[in-house]
Amino acid sequence: MKTTRRNLLKMAAGSAGALLAAPGFVRAQQMFDKPPVGGAQAANAGGSERVVIIGGGWGGLSVARALKQLRPGTSVLVIEQNPLFMSCPMSNLFLGNVLHLEDLQFSYASLGAHGIAFAQERVTGIDRGASRVETTGGTFEYDLLVLSPGIDYIWDSVPGLWEGRFDIPIAFKPGAEHLHLKQTIEAFQGGTFVLTIPEAPIRCPPGPYERIAMIAYNFKKRGLKAKLIALDANAKPMSKGPGFLGAYDELYKDIVEYLPNHKVESVDHEKKLIRHSFGEIRYDAANVIPAMQAATIVRTAGIGERWAEINPADFSAKADPRVFLVGDVIGGQPFPKSGFMANTIGKVVAKHVAARLDGKGGDPLVPSNVCYSMVDGDQGGRSIWVSHAFAWNATEKRYDSEQKVDLKASHDNADSGYKWARSVWSEMLG
Ligand SMILES: Cc1cc2nc3c(=O)[nH]c(=O)nc-3n(C[C@H](O)[C@H](O)[C@H](O)COP(=O)(O)OP(=O)(O)OC[C@H]3O[C@@H](n4cnc5c(N)ncnc54)[C@H](O)[C@@H]3O)c2cc1C
Repeated sequence: MKTTRRNLLKMAAGSAGALLAAPGFVRAQQMFDKPPVGGAQAANAGGSERVVIIGGGWGGLSVARALKQLRPGTSVLVIEQNPLFMSCPMSNLFLGNVLHLEDLQFSYASLGAHGIAFAQERVTGIDRGASRVETTGGTFEYDLLVLSPGIDYIWDSVPGLWEGRFDIPIAFKPGAEHLHLKQTIEAFQGGTFVLTIPEAPIRCPPGPYERIAMIAYNFKKRGLKAKLIALDANAKPMSKGPGFLGAYDELYKDIVEYLPNHKVESVDHEKKLIRHSFGEIRYDAANVIPAMQAATIVRTAGIGERWAEINPADFSAKADPRVFLVGDVIGGQPFPKSGFMANTIGKVVAKHVAARLDGKGGDPLVPSNVCYSMVDGDQGGRSIWVSHAFAWNATEKRYDSEQKVDLKASHDNADSGYKWARSVWSEMLG
């Protein structure tokens, strides 16, 4: 199928529409309508072992689908706070008016058809001694636990941002924040738009730079008299630097001004003023991206601090071998925080979980990464990419990594990006 926006839409409508009616979904809904007591028991009804997965994002869904294929008899429960899946990958295209928000949103309804139970609740605690997950809707017991809850913001890293959060969107977590940012961009009629980037490590290192390109593309298409000033705390773009800087120069010379080594010190949303390492700047609209850390539940559960450490051979948590970690929460490894990584780590972890349930030790398995970034929106857009190949170093007991890039923006690369996103959306929720 040709990767046009219309085809992306068809895929979205097909998966959500067809599966809403699936009887498996109805069963899953009945199972988890009243989760506190009955729900927890019902979660065990599907099989003898109970695997609970926290987070219905890229990592959690990838584990759930792969594990259910490997061990259909195992009871698998995904706990997710949001009612709808929203894809951060490709979300910058929504800002550029290349895709619509609904192109990025998918129902969790399909999980039931695959025998995976789903509870839309927020996890409030994990009692690891009692092997229990506490949620806003009750308590669920597990034999093995998988944590893929993504990231939270470090609000204190930008004084004033919490107070200004209704004026200044961040949009680095799935959900309504992306709509807030889009509304901010559409309401902006010209002047100075400031986008700020924190120091590495963050979720999706190329994400802010792709966002700069897509916001500039939006301004260019609308013919705005606008400056997009990017204050980067890093000395250069965290990923695909020459590709992004070349694209800004070629396509958005009059719009984008990229300033490296500019760390944000505070924001004053009433005065519309950002203070940074070299002075201050007034803005008409802003997207301030603060420093990031593993989602709060990782700390609450005593599994990690800023990020969580794994035993690299099988992705179990250093703090507790009955907990497996997936996606952006993982620290201390050469893995970029990307959806591609979360998906391939998810499949690796499903195999380790299955091996553990079989009473075997899993051999080290290797995930991979490719990350496409759109720099132009015309005719479906043009992309650049970076890839990482990993190899298990048995002597050092770590992963070695090798990076490749294609920094020449092309429609073919953009097509590969659409195909990748469509295939993983379908793999997770089709
Ligand atoms: C703007 C942007 C662009 C990006 N572009 C790309 C790209 O092009 N390619 C790419 O590969 N990656 C991209 N990424 C990165 C990608 O989105 C993440 O790396 C990926 O989502 C990580 O998966 P995860 O499972 O760790 O977290 P998530 O996908 O965020 O899933 C975590 C889930 O856990 C839930 N959760 C958290 N805490 C709780 C709780 N207490 N109770 C219940 N549920 C909870 C959250 O609601 C969330 O749904 C992009 C990210 C952004 C922000």
